[in-house]
Amino acid sequence: MKLLTHIPCPVETATVLSRMNTTSREKHTAAIEKLLIQANEKIKPAMLYKRCPVCFKDESSVIVNDVEFNSRILKVNLENAKNAFVYIITCGQTYEDFLHSLDDMLDRYYVNEIGNVMLSEAQAQFLRYLEKTYALECISKMTPGSLEDWPLSEQKKLFALLTEEAIHEKIGVTLEENMLMTPVKTLSGIAFPTASPFENCQMCPQISCPGRKAPYDDSLKKTYF
Ligand code: SF4
Repeated sequence: MKLLTHIPCPVETATVLSRMNTTSREKHTAAIEKLLIQANEKIKPAMLYKRCPVCFKDESSVIVNDVEFNSRILKVNLENAKNAFVYIITCGQTYEDFLHSLDDMLDRYYVNEIGNVMLSEAQAQFLRYLEKTYALECISKMTPGSLEDWPLSEQKKLFALLTEEAIHEKIGVTLEENMLMTPVKTLSGIAFPTASPFENCQMCPQISCPGRKAPYDDSLKKTYF
Protein backbone atom coordinates (compact mmCIF):
# COMPACT_ATOMS: atom_id res chain seq x y z
CA MET A 1 0.00 0.00 0.00
CA LYS A 2 1.36 3.41 -0.90
CA LEU A 3 0.55 6.87 0.43
CA LEU A 4 0.99 9.98 -1.73
CA THR A 5 0.84 13.42 -0.16
CA HIS A 6 3.20 15.36 -2.37
CA ILE A 7 1.28 15.56 -5.65
CA PRO A 8 0.21 19.17 -6.32
CA CYS A 9 -3.42 19.70 -7.37
CA PRO A 10 -3.67 23.43 -8.19
CA VAL A 11 -7.15 24.72 -8.99
CA GLU A 12 -7.84 27.54 -11.45
CA THR A 13 -10.59 30.16 -11.09
CA ALA A 14 -11.89 29.45 -14.62
CA THR A 15 -12.43 25.76 -13.78
CA VAL A 16 -14.43 26.62 -10.65
CA LEU A 17 -16.53 29.15 -12.59
CA SER A 18 -17.30 26.71 -15.39
CA ARG A 19 -18.45 24.13 -12.86
CA MET A 20 -20.75 26.73 -11.26
CA ASN A 21 -22.48 27.14 -14.62
CA THR A 22 -23.08 30.86 -14.04
CA THR A 23 -23.71 33.50 -16.69
CA SER A 24 -22.36 36.37 -14.54
CA ARG A 25 -18.78 35.24 -14.05
CA GLU A 26 -17.36 38.69 -13.21
CA LYS A 27 -19.57 38.85 -10.13
CA HIS A 28 -17.85 35.81 -8.58
CA THR A 29 -14.29 36.03 -9.94
CA ALA A 30 -12.63 38.24 -7.29
CA ALA A 31 -14.06 36.28 -4.33
CA ILE A 32 -13.08 32.93 -5.85
CA GLU A 33 -9.56 34.12 -6.66
CA LYS A 34 -9.10 35.27 -3.07
CA LEU A 35 -10.39 32.00 -1.61
CA LEU A 36 -8.34 29.96 -4.06
CA ILE A 37 -5.08 31.46 -2.80
CA GLN A 38 -5.97 30.21 0.69
CA ALA A 39 -7.38 26.88 -0.53
CA ASN A 40 -4.30 26.04 -2.60
CA GLU A 41 -2.17 26.73 0.48
CA LYS A 42 -4.33 25.02 3.10
CA ILE A 43 -5.94 22.00 1.46
CA LYS A 44 -3.56 19.08 1.06
CA PRO A 45 -5.07 16.16 -0.88
CA ALA A 46 -3.80 12.69 0.04
CA MET A 47 -3.96 9.49 -1.98
CA LEU A 48 -3.73 5.93 -0.71
CA TYR A 49 -3.53 3.03 -3.15
CA LYS A 50 -2.60 -0.59 -3.58
CA ARG A 51 -1.50 -2.39 -6.74
CA CYS A 52 -3.44 -5.66 -6.84
CA PRO A 53 -3.49 -8.79 -9.02
CA VAL A 54 -6.67 -9.46 -10.98
CA CYS A 55 -8.37 -12.79 -11.71
CA PHE A 56 -11.83 -13.93 -12.77
CA LYS A 57 -14.54 -16.19 -11.44
CA ASP A 58 -17.64 -15.74 -13.57
CA GLU A 59 -19.31 -13.43 -16.09
CA SER A 60 -20.28 -10.70 -13.69
CA SER A 61 -17.59 -10.60 -11.05
CA VAL A 62 -13.88 -10.03 -10.78
CA ILE A 63 -11.42 -10.89 -8.04
CA VAL A 64 -9.01 -8.14 -7.12
CA ASN A 65 -6.43 -9.12 -4.52
CA ASP A 66 -8.67 -11.93 -3.19
CA VAL A 67 -11.70 -9.65 -2.88
CA GLU A 68 -14.63 -10.41 -5.18
CA PHE A 69 -16.33 -7.38 -6.71
CA ASN A 70 -19.72 -7.88 -8.37
CA SER A 71 -19.99 -5.76 -11.47
CA ARG A 72 -20.30 -6.90 -15.06
CA ILE A 73 -18.85 -3.60 -16.36
CA LEU A 74 -15.88 -3.72 -13.99
CA LYS A 75 -15.25 -7.34 -14.97
CA VAL A 76 -15.22 -6.49 -18.69
CA ASN A 77 -13.01 -3.45 -18.09
CA LEU A 78 -10.45 -5.55 -16.21
CA GLU A 79 -10.40 -8.45 -18.69
CA ASN A 80 -7.05 -7.47 -20.17
CA ALA A 81 -5.46 -6.17 -16.97
CA LYS A 82 -3.01 -8.21 -14.93
CA ASN A 83 -3.10 -5.64 -12.13
CA ALA A 84 -5.49 -2.97 -10.96
CA PHE A 85 -5.03 -0.08 -8.52
CA VAL A 86 -7.49 0.21 -5.65
CA TYR A 87 -7.46 3.77 -4.30
CA ILE A 88 -8.90 6.41 -2.02
CA ILE A 89 -8.26 10.12 -2.56
CA THR A 90 -9.27 12.81 -0.12
CA CYS A 91 -9.04 16.56 0.40
CA GLY A 92 -9.12 15.49 4.05
CA GLN A 93 -9.65 17.37 7.25
CA THR A 94 -7.69 20.31 5.80
CA TYR A 95 -10.68 20.99 3.50
CA GLU A 96 -13.22 20.62 6.33
CA ASP A 97 -11.23 22.96 8.59
CA PHE A 98 -10.98 25.60 5.88
CA LEU A 99 -14.70 25.37 5.05
CA HIS A 100 -15.76 25.66 8.69
CA SER A 101 -13.47 28.64 9.27
CA LEU A 102 -15.70 30.68 6.94
CA ASP A 103 -18.79 32.50 8.25
CA ASP A 104 -20.12 33.79 4.95
CA MET A 105 -22.56 31.39 3.24
CA LEU A 106 -21.52 32.48 -0.25
CA ASP A 107 -17.84 31.89 0.58
CA ARG A 108 -18.80 28.42 1.78
CA TYR A 109 -20.57 27.78 -1.49
CA TYR A 110 -17.46 28.83 -3.43
CA VAL A 111 -15.23 26.65 -1.27
CA ASN A 112 -17.56 23.70 -1.78
CA GLU A 113 -17.07 24.09 -5.54
CA ILE A 114 -13.32 24.60 -5.07
CA GLY A 115 -13.25 21.33 -3.11
CA ASN A 116 -15.09 19.50 -5.90
CA VAL A 117 -12.65 20.77 -8.51
CA MET A 118 -9.62 20.04 -6.32
CA LEU A 119 -10.77 16.48 -5.67
CA SER A 120 -11.36 15.89 -9.35
CA GLU A 121 -7.93 17.38 -10.18
CA ALA A 122 -6.32 15.18 -7.49
CA GLN A 123 -7.85 12.12 -9.12
CA ALA A 124 -6.62 13.20 -12.56
CA GLN A 125 -3.11 13.78 -11.18
CA PHE A 126 -3.20 10.40 -9.48
CA LEU A 127 -4.08 8.63 -12.74
CA ARG A 128 -1.22 10.48 -14.49
CA TYR A 129 1.09 9.39 -11.66
CA LEU A 130 0.09 5.74 -12.18
CA GLU A 131 0.67 5.99 -15.94
CA LYS A 132 4.13 7.40 -15.40
CA THR A 133 5.16 5.18 -12.49
CA TYR A 134 4.01 1.90 -14.01
CA ALA A 135 4.70 2.83 -17.68
CA LEU A 136 1.06 2.45 -18.70
CA GLU A 137 -0.14 3.99 -21.95
CA CYS A 138 -3.69 4.63 -20.87
CA ILE A 139 -5.47 4.22 -17.56
CA SER A 140 -9.16 4.57 -16.63
CA LYS A 141 -11.12 4.12 -13.42
CA MET A 142 -14.46 3.08 -12.00
CA THR A 143 -16.01 4.21 -8.74
CA PRO A 144 -18.51 2.17 -6.70
CA GLY A 145 -21.96 3.73 -6.68
CA SER A 146 -21.58 5.66 -9.94
CA LEU A 147 -23.42 3.04 -11.98
CA GLU A 148 -26.31 0.74 -11.12
CA ASP A 149 -24.13 -2.18 -12.20
CA TRP A 150 -21.59 -1.47 -9.42
CA PRO A 151 -23.59 -0.37 -6.37
CA LEU A 152 -22.37 1.74 -3.48
CA SER A 153 -22.61 -1.28 -1.15
CA GLU A 154 -19.42 -2.57 -2.84
CA GLN A 155 -17.60 0.26 -1.10
CA LYS A 156 -17.36 -2.01 1.92
CA LYS A 157 -15.22 -4.49 -0.03
CA LEU A 158 -12.95 -1.76 -1.32
CA PHE A 159 -12.36 -0.57 2.24
CA ALA A 160 -11.80 -4.15 3.42
CA LEU A 161 -9.17 -4.61 0.72
CA LEU A 162 -7.20 -1.57 1.88
CA THR A 163 -8.24 -2.24 5.52
CA GLU A 164 -10.42 0.31 7.28
CA GLU A 165 -7.94 0.86 10.11
CA ALA A 166 -5.06 1.66 7.74
CA ILE A 167 -7.23 4.03 5.70
CA HIS A 168 -8.26 5.92 8.80
CA GLU A 169 -4.78 6.00 10.24
CA LYS A 170 -3.03 7.13 7.06
CA ILE A 171 -5.50 9.57 5.47
CA GLY A 172 -8.23 10.02 8.09
CA VAL A 173 -11.05 8.61 5.95
CA THR A 174 -13.93 6.63 7.49
CA LEU A 175 -16.64 4.59 5.81
CA GLU A 176 -20.01 5.35 7.41
CA GLU A 177 -22.88 2.88 7.77
CA ASN A 178 -24.66 4.40 4.76
CA MET A 179 -21.52 3.61 2.69
CA LEU A 180 -20.61 7.28 2.28
CA MET A 181 -17.15 8.43 3.23
CA THR A 182 -16.01 11.15 5.59
CA PRO A 183 -14.41 13.68 5.21
CA VAL A 184 -16.92 14.59 2.55
CA LYS A 185 -14.50 15.46 -0.28
CA THR A 186 -13.26 11.91 -0.78
CA LEU A 187 -13.29 9.54 -3.76
CA SER A 188 -12.65 5.83 -3.99
CA GLY A 189 -12.23 3.56 -6.97
CA ILE A 190 -10.36 1.03 -8.99
CA ALA A 191 -8.02 2.20 -11.74
CA PHE A 192 -6.94 -0.12 -14.53
CA PRO A 193 -4.86 -0.08 -17.72
CA THR A 194 -7.00 -0.02 -20.83
CA ALA A 195 -6.66 0.25 -24.60
CA SER A 196 -9.55 2.70 -24.88
CA PRO A 197 -10.43 5.24 -22.17
CA PHE A 198 -13.52 4.50 -20.08
CA GLU A 199 -15.65 6.97 -18.08
CA ASN A 200 -18.56 5.96 -15.84
CA CYS A 201 -20.46 8.87 -17.41
CA GLN A 202 -20.52 7.09 -20.80
CA MET A 203 -22.93 4.58 -19.26
CA CYS A 204 -24.81 6.93 -16.93
CA PRO A 205 -28.02 8.46 -18.35
CA GLN A 206 -28.26 11.37 -15.82
CA ILE A 207 -28.99 14.29 -18.13
CA SER A 208 -28.30 17.36 -16.03
CA CYS A 209 -25.25 16.26 -14.02
CA PRO A 210 -22.78 19.17 -13.63
CA GLY A 211 -19.91 16.71 -13.16
CA ARG A 212 -20.39 14.87 -16.47
CA LYS A 213 -17.00 14.07 -18.05
CA ALA A 214 -18.10 12.25 -21.21
CA PRO A 215 -21.31 12.05 -23.27
CA TYR A 216 -23.74 9.21 -22.63
CA ASP A 217 -23.24 6.40 -25.17
CA ASP A 218 -26.18 4.01 -25.34
CA SER A 219 -24.34 1.77 -27.83
CA LEU A 220 -21.83 0.73 -25.13
CA LYS A 221 -24.48 -1.54 -23.58
CA LYS A 222 -23.81 -3.99 -26.41
CA THR A 223 -20.11 -4.08 -25.50
CA TYR A 224 -20.69 -4.74 -21.83
CA PHE A 225 -23.87 -6.86 -21.66
S1 SF4 B 1 -22.91 11.69 -15.36
FE1 SF4 B 1 -22.66 12.53 -13.29
S2 SF4 B 1 -23.70 11.06 -11.95
FE2 SF4 B 1 -23.36 10.03 -13.92
S3 SF4 B 1 -21.41 8.97 -13.66
FE3 SF4 B 1 -20.95 10.96 -14.59
S4 SF4 B 1 -20.48 12.29 -12.85
FE4 SF4 B 1 -21.53 10.48 -12.02
